[in-house]
Order: sequence, then structure tokens, then C-alpha cells
Amino acid sequence: MKALGPIPAGFTAENGVLVIGGKPVTQWAEEAGTTPLFLYSADRVRARVGELRSAMPDRLALHYAVKANPFAPLVSMMIGLVDGFDIASGGELAIVRAAGVPLDKVSFAGPGKRDAELEAALAAGVTLNLESEGEAARALAIAEKLGVTPRLAIRVNPDFDLKGSGMKMGGGAKPFGIDAERVPALARQIIASGAQWRGFHIFAGSQALDAEAIAQTQGQTLDLAAKLAEEIDHPLPHCNLGGGLGIPYFPGDTPVDLATVGERLGERFAALPEVLRDTAFCIELGRYLVGEAGIYLARIVDRKVSHGEVFLITDGGLHHQLAASGNFGTVVRRNYPSTIATRFGAEVEEEATIVGCLCTPLDKLADKGGFPRAEVGDLVAVFCAGAYGASASPAEFLGQGPAVEILV
Ligand SMILES: *Cc1c(COP(=O)(O)O)cnc(C)c1O
Repeated sequence: MKALGPIPAGFTAENGVLVIGGKPVTQWAEEAGTTPLFLYSADRVRARVGELRSAMPDRLALHYAVKANPFAPLVSMMIGLVDGFDIASGGELAIVRAAGVPLDKVSFAGPGKRDAELEAALAAGVTLNLESEGEAARALAIAEKLGVTPRLAIRVNPDFDLKGSGMKMGGGAKPFGIDAERVPALARQIIASGAQWRGFHIFAGSQALDAEAIAQTQGQTLDLAAKLAEEIDHPLPHCNLGGGLGIPYFPGDTPVDLATVGERLGERFAALPEVLRDTAFCIELGRYLVGEAGIYLARIVDRKVSHGEVFLITDGGLHHQLAASGNFGTVVRRNYPSTIATRFGAEVEEEATIVGCLCTPLDKLADKGGFPRAEVGDLVAVFCAGAYGASASPAEFLGQGPAVEILV
């Protein structure tokens, strides 16, 4: 038997059926009239934001990285919860605009911004996190053509990375950001152009669970911001410290010790150098805000035994849950947390592999996990499905189409 990832704390059952958003999942499936489904709990997102607000220094603003989950009702709900939104494409600009996000609270990072995307963002008053000198030149030219004052920040490719992070986004040669030593020259040029100077965006990595590593990276980020601001010889208006807070997906993973991260950042904020005295700081988080708030629900359509192994075959799969199948940026496949949602909390009775309905051996939701005996018609829940699920999976593969999504 292979271990399953840890189910996020706080989920309960009613008559043995997993509850989310105050209702058993069977009822959500009935109301939707179909499976598979993504269910995102608004209460869980609110609670997570509350935990962050109380652990982090007041001075630290909180941004939502839209790419984690761009579901429109969720983005709309975030307006009242966070201080800013980070987007990574013209498509996400359209999403935040349609959701009613005030566009002066939006910043746009991402390599390979096309001219049309730069134009839409500049016209909307969105802050651009510039990823290269070439992009800076295009942005300045487009702003001049439009007759607008561009709001420009520089994404710095830091000379360190976030230790233990699942996805390294800084340190060494990278397609993201501008190498730190080239930043001062470009910053001076931006300031001299009359643009609105919006400071730095320094993102060193993602999906880290070790509070010490996160705190250390935030410290290095502040040191780098101070050093660069000194060199530019200009006060730094704003600094996006990146994100990095991860969630437990796999067996043995434990949650980030938020209190430690908050205390360490508070100590650093209390001792900032002069050049950062008036700087506004933020962090940008995706999965930490929404990942554990979501579940993916699929129905068992067949139960088979092959060479003595039990296969529970569902109507879902990797076309909605590429990450849980192990095919989204993982080297070794490990099990996400999952359960038989209609037998929640019941004793483990057998080893079973939960698969999707796609004709590929990649389509596994849980490999040789321990579950209560499940039958055709039972519902399977995959947890940690609130981020990088629906929008990060190939929904059109095999003509399957998207899953229904509901904010509950
Ligand atoms: C993807 C991304 C994020 C969000 O990462 P999470 O791991 O979901 O918190 C934040 N900032 C940037 C620049 C990103 O590319």
C-alpha cells in the first residue's frame, strides 16, 4: 500500500458523506446534475486570509496570484479579501477586469508579454513587472503612443533561490526577470523617462513548507532590494517580496509554521535600512490562499480487479487534475490526499488504485492507496484541488471537456 497525502484539517462528514460549504458532497453533485465537479469553499479561503493577516506584520500587503485559480466567482470574492492581484497574461487581465477588480491594484508579470498585452495593461493603468530591457523599451514606446504615464516595476532575477521550494524561479540563468546586476541601470532609465516608478518584484520560488527557509529568503530579498535601491540612489516606493508559501500535498508534508514566518519578517521590518523606510511591501500567494479550499469530486463508474489489484474507475481524471496525476512538474509520482467521499472516515478495507476515464496509463488519481471498499456510484474526492486544477489541466484531451466549478 502506498501512503496518501494528508487531508487538510477541518473537513467533516454528515452520515459518512464529506461536507463542504455546509452541504454533503452528494447534494452538490445532485444540484450540479453532473460529475466531475470542483467545489471551492469560500469560508476556507476567508479563514486562510484571516490566518495570514494575523500572523504577518500589518505593513505587509497581501496579493492574490490569479494563475492559481482564475475562476471568476472566486476572483470576485478575492476583491474584498486581498490588497492586490498579480496576473500573468492578457487573458488574466480580461478575467480580473470582468470580475470587477480595480485595475490600479493589478500588476502583470510574465516573460513574453506581447505588444497587444502590454498595450491593454498600460491603457488600464496596470503595473508592469518588466522582465527584460527589451520589454521595458517596448512598454515605454507603447505608453508614449497611448499618451499614458506607465506604471513600471522591475522583476529582479535574484542571485539566490528559495531552499526546498518545489519550483525554483530565481538564482542563476532564468527566463524570468532581469539579472540583479543589470537592474540599477534600467531603473535609472525608467525613472528618467518620467514613468511612474513602482519598484521591484523579487520572486525566488514557490511551494516551500519550511518556515526557516521562507524567512531566510525574505531576508535575502530585503537585503537585495536595499542594495539595489542604494545603487539607484532613489527611495524604493514598492517591493513585491514574492511568495513561496506552500501547502502539504504529499505523505510526510507538514504545514508552514506561519507564526515563525510572520515573527521573522516583523523583526526585519523593525530594522529596515533608510532606503526602505517608506517602501510598501507585499507578498503574492496563489496556492496558499486557495489550494486547500478546493476539492475535486468524481464518481466511480466501474470497479475492476486485474491480476489481483483493485481499480476504481472514475468519470474524472488528469484532464481536470493533471497535478494529482503526477504530470504537472513532479519528478516522482506521489499520491495527493484523496478519499472515498461517500464513505468519509470509514476504515481502510482494501488497497485500490483510483484512475480516470482516459485511455492512458498516466491517468491515475491515487496509486495503490488504502480505502474503504467502494462501489460503482460512490464519489471520490481529491483534496488540495483549489489551485492549479481546472485551469492547469488539458480539459479538451480525449474530447472530455471541462468540469463544473462551484464556489460554495
Ligand atoms: C505562479 C506564481 C505565483 C504563485 O505561486 P503559488 O505557488 O501558487 O503561490 C506568484 N508569483 C509569481 C511570479 C508566479 O509566477
